[in-house]
Parts: sequence; C-alpha cells; structure tokens
Amino acid sequence: MEKDLKRSVRRHHLDRLKAKRKSYWGFGRAGHRNRTEMDARRKGMVAQYPSVCSCYMCGNPRKWWKEVTLKEKLHKIVANEDVTLN
Ligand SMILES: [Zn+2]
Repeated sequence: MEKDLKRSVRRHHLDRLKAKRKSYWGFGRAGHRNRTEMDARRKGMVAQYPSVCSCYMCGNPRKWWKEVTLKEKLHKIVANEDVTLN
C-alpha cells in the first residue's frame, strides 16, 4: 500500500514557487523596493498569483478591451497558416 502524497506534493510545490518568485514584484537584491525580503503574506500572494495586478495594462485584454490575448492571436495565425514555430 502506498502512502498518500497529495498534501506533501502540494506543499512542496508551494514552497518551490515561493522560493522561485522571491524576486518578483520588485523584491530581491536588484529590486527597486527598499525591502529585499518579502513578508509571509506577499510570499503567499505571489505563489498563488504571480501577476502584479489586474489593471488595464497588466490584466487580460478580454476583460478590458474585449480582445483576444496575444497567445490566442498567435495560435490563430499558426493554426490558419499551418506553420510550425521552432
Ligand atoms: Zn497593472
């Protein structure tokens, strides 16, 4: 019988993302913020949602401009012209 590893895997990936994204949002050694280390609350936020905010410049264009995203535009071009990008 195998041990259920769901919780440990979830915790592993949460810790991994917190460590990886510690320099996001202007933090870190070369960051523009005065503080070099994120507090625990921000670490949780950046692990859950790495996007800085959801304003009209950073957010999804479908929400603000009723347009498709850049990825979807590229996908449409590749699908129509049958071109591989590699
Ligand atoms: Zn923004």
